[in-house]
Amino acid sequence: MKVYFVLITLTVFMSISFAQNKKSNELPSKWYLYETNNYDLYFTPSDSTDLSKYMAYFDNAQESIEKYFNNKFLTKYDIYVHPNRKSLDLQFSSEWNIPGFKSECWMVASGVADQFNLLSTRVWDTESCEQNPVVASAIQQLITHEVMHVYHGQINLDHFFENMADMSWFIEGVAVMVSGQLDSEKMSKVKQIIKEDRYPRLLNKLWNGDDRYGICGSLVNYIRGRYGVEKISEILKAQSNEQLLKLLKISERELIDSWAESIIK
Ligand SMILES: [Zn+2]
Repeated sequence: MKVYFVLITLTVFMSISFAQNKKSNELPSKWYLYETNNYDLYFTPSDSTDLSKYMAYFDNAQESIEKYFNNKFLTKYDIYVHPNRKSLDLQFSSEWNIPGFKSECWMVASGVADQFNLLSTRVWDTESCEQNPVVASAIQQLITHEVMHVYHGQINLDHFFENMADMSWFIEGVAVMVSGQLDSEKMSKVKQIIKEDRYPRLLNKLWNGDDRYGICGSLVNYIRGRYGVEKISEILKAQSNEQLLKLLKISERELIDSWAESIIK
């Protein structure tokens, strides 16, 4: 009986939201494909006039990552520019095998080894809670961040990071660092957190709270400073914190302590 009630409520809710948003909420009936040497770009008629703008973002992202690591992407990947959130959700539902998945308003993009999904920047002001107006440099950083997940997913044998939740600090931290999102504002917050002794001593607890981007980005940046960028390339292959620490020849506690010291000295 309870299930029945929930189902009815959902149906009513969905038909109301359909009625209200009929136009912007329609699933795309037509996808165009533009093939390049690096990726296959799927987009719909509503974004076709912005194609060159998007491609500049995507090409810059790939170029800057390849330059950073002095290495090429292993394979081509698909890029989808979704005309609305409904289309993005449908893609996530089938990719992650979660029927009816509804993304949070802050989710505007995602990347794994073979695919990068982006909600059209045209609808960010109405279909996302991204701060507006979003400047081009922030869009570029966000796209580079997600394309970094694609690069990471190609190199790592767990291509979809399915068993790597404990390594979120590294997956996200490396993307924050390479994309240039580790700005002085984030760094000064990290400094404050460390000074006030408000940071976890376990790697799998670092990807938490409002300042997680700064904390994880600065820790990966510390590793790069101490071991060099070649070591970052090496640890992109690690599938657990244990493997990563072994490659760095350091204990979890020693790594976190020495990073914290380096930030406040
Ligand atoms: Zn990310």
